Amino acid sequence: MSENPAFKAGFVTLIGRPNVGKSTLMNQLIGQKIAITSNKPQTTRNRIQTVLTLEEGQIVFLDTPGIHKAKNKLGDYMVNVAERTLNEVDVILWLVEPTTYIGAGEKHIIEQLKKTKTPVILVINKTDRVKREEVLTFIDAYRKEMDFHEIVPVSALMGDNTDALVQCILKYLPYGPAFYDEDTITDQPMRQIVAELIREKALRLLEEEIPHGIAVSIESMKERKHICDIDATIVCERDSHKGIIIGKGGQMLKKIGSSARPDIEDLLEMQVNLQLWVKVKKDWRDSDFLLKNFGYNPKDISMNE
Ligand code: GDP
Ligand code: MG
Repeated sequence: MSENPAFKAGFVTLIGRPNVGKSTLMNQLIGQKIAITSNKPQTTRNRIQTVLTLEEGQIVFLDTPGIHKAKNKLGDYMVNVAERTLNEVDVILWLVEPTTYIGAGEKHIIEQLKKTKTPVILVINKTDRVKREEVLTFIDAYRKEMDFHEIVPVSALMGDNTDALVQCILKYLPYGPAFYDEDTITDQPMRQIVAELIREKALRLLEEEIPHGIAVSIESMKERKHICDIDATIVCERDSHKGIIIGKGGQMLKKIGSSARPDIEDLLEMQVNLQLWVKVKKDWRDSDFLLKNFGYNPKDISMNE
């Protein structure tokens, strides 16, 4: 897939009122595969990412529905979708009901959306519930409120026009290689847990020797028959730290791996083949992009110093 010079990859956030159909849409887009991880533990602390990989590109959905537990006056509308997220992603999908009624909640969202430069695709869902002709009136009502980059009517439940939506998203993604292995679907929280397990073991074994902490990034996690191959990188800040983490003849790295592996096997309920790597990344803690990629909040990191 990555040999394709026209390959695109980017981040999308999906926002919308409770019950508007966010989960249904994600399930429709990702298909059956999402069920694989649906009953695995999830951490609400970190963002969940759901990855859709196609011939033409890879769409990484942030803030996947189902994890927004907090409520405010507007329900779970935007609670976890910080303004920052809106500016960080390549595309915002705003899912709405098929109606001409634009209430206070919607107006509030529109205000937020107008502040960002990120392209916004308005998705009018549940079109199977209304007459075809009516859809135009909903489009008009919303168009009066804001200049959307695209307005796409769909039925998430029936899968109507969802392919067109995907094509529409791809239009706004930058050219570039995939962020994730093409087999990755939605196990970001699982990856996170695995990364944290490795990190915890490493910190314990290294004791006080690494003053500035480390990050662990899961490069790939692939299941084959009854065994899961995991490639993980321990990232540190200095060459001297790298030496300590690897240890004499690789002893320390081996220890970290062999103490993390049984825990990961318990978690995944399968045999694990764990490959650990060590990389030096100077000032990685200052890099927002890296933090995003590793799935850590700066807050979490400083807590562990
Ligand atoms: P969420 O809270 O935004 O994640 O909404 P859900 O995906 O849980 O959907 C809420 C309800 O709306 C469920 O009963 C869905 O079956 C229903 N729903 C979602 N999308 C559609 C659609 O396109 N058409 C119809 N008729 N119902 C839908
Ligand atoms: Mg939901």
